[in-house]
Amino acid sequence: MRAREFLMKDGYSFHTDETQLETAYEQMRDAYAAVFRRCGLEFVIVEADSGAIGGDVNHEFMVTADSGESLIFSSQCGYAASSESAKFRIEAAPDEKEAPLVRRETPGKKTVEEVSAFLGVEPARLLKSLVFFAGEEPVLAVVPGDRELNEAKLARVLGHPAPRLATAEEIERLTGGPLGFTGPSGIPESLRTILDLAVQENRNYVTGGNTRDVHLMNVRLGRDVPVRERADLTTAREGDRCPRCGDVMRMGRGIEVGHIFKLGTKYSQAMGASFLDAEGAERTIVMGTYGIGITRTVAAVIEQLHDPNGIIWPYSIAPYHVHLVPVNVNHAETKQIAESIYERLSEWVVETLIDDRDERPGAKFKDADLMGMPLRVTIGEKGLKDGIVELRDRKTGQVARVPSGEAAAACRKRVEEALRKLSPSG
Ligand SMILES: [Zn+2]
Repeated sequence: MRAREFLMKDGYSFHTDETQLETAYEQMRDAYAAVFRRCGLEFVIVEADSGAIGGDVNHEFMVTADSGESLIFSSQCGYAASSESAKFRIEAAPDEKEAPLVRRETPGKKTVEEVSAFLGVEPARLLKSLVFFAGEEPVLAVVPGDRELNEAKLARVLGHPAPRLATAEEIERLTGGPLGFTGPSGIPESLRTILDLAVQENRNYVTGGNTRDVHLMNVRLGRDVPVRERADLTTAREGDRCPRCGDVMRMGRGIEVGHIFKLGTKYSQAMGASFLDAEGAERTIVMGTYGIGITRTVAAVIEQLHDPNGIIWPYSIAPYHVHLVPVNVNHAETKQIAESIYERLSEWVVETLIDDRDERPGAKFKDADLMGMPLRVTIGEKGLKDGIVELRDRKTGQVARVPSGEAAAACRKRVEEALRKLSPSG
């Protein structure tokens, strides 16, 4: 996948306003979907993290494959997102009776596992409190103990590309307590604190006490922790429910083959790219950008469309549509018929490969499967005794016996039908 050759198709669109951009973005999204459908790919269009490129809205085209480098969540309702941005439904916890705040000695217990084992409480009852720096600004992020903080989500909330974790010294200076005992209760008001959406108001939590070897129990939002800022900060996981329809989401891996962005005015503003509107007023150009990884798409096709014997090319992007295999090239009739089929197909611009090597039949068939052209035609002495050649579909393995004089026309028909089916209007 990460081949040295990386060919990209890049596109940009320029608009006078957001409405125009919206139209172009939708058209591009449809066009990309048509391209990947035509390549025979199964894919999902996911809401993605805009990362370094920025902009408001962006979508990735992800080919589903176990070898994919991205984790994606999808739902039957059509919702799909990469793990950097997948949302999930937050399940309301049953109300718990408020209990008085309790200070507990937790000598040397710093991690969620250590504290939950020591105090005999489930990890979900703990709050993990992490200090980050977005540039100069320190931020305390608070998430449930059984969930992972998602740095891409945090970066978006903070509007900073790469917040960094604070050092032990910085934590001590900001919270008054050492690393491992940080909590949102009793910290200075000046420390910006963001609570994850899954942290609930009606539960008694365990948090660090901002003192060495101390944790607090029965911590309540509102009473013990001021609720100033809330955000979605954690990564979706197996079993989480779709934010739209509530169904359990599917978790799978994907290969990114395309990415489209609504850039808005982010770059045009920075570069001073403007235009004069009908009233003669200077306005900033609204932009979109659209990319397809071309070599990556080919690799993704192979990743998704293969079997133990080799590649199964879809007709749309197969190097050749038809692979002719004259079994014995030293047999005059075999050779003559193979060549006549080849010539007919070439005249009709059906892309055809002929294996005219003097090789064992087994080796030729193996190579044909490995290379994976969609249609194989076997021309053998045995069949020719009955005037027959064999058409074999690489994908299904189905074999049709066809009179040798009709073989070229039969191939053409199959190729044309298959291409028609893949075309957007088909
Ligand atoms: Zn859904």
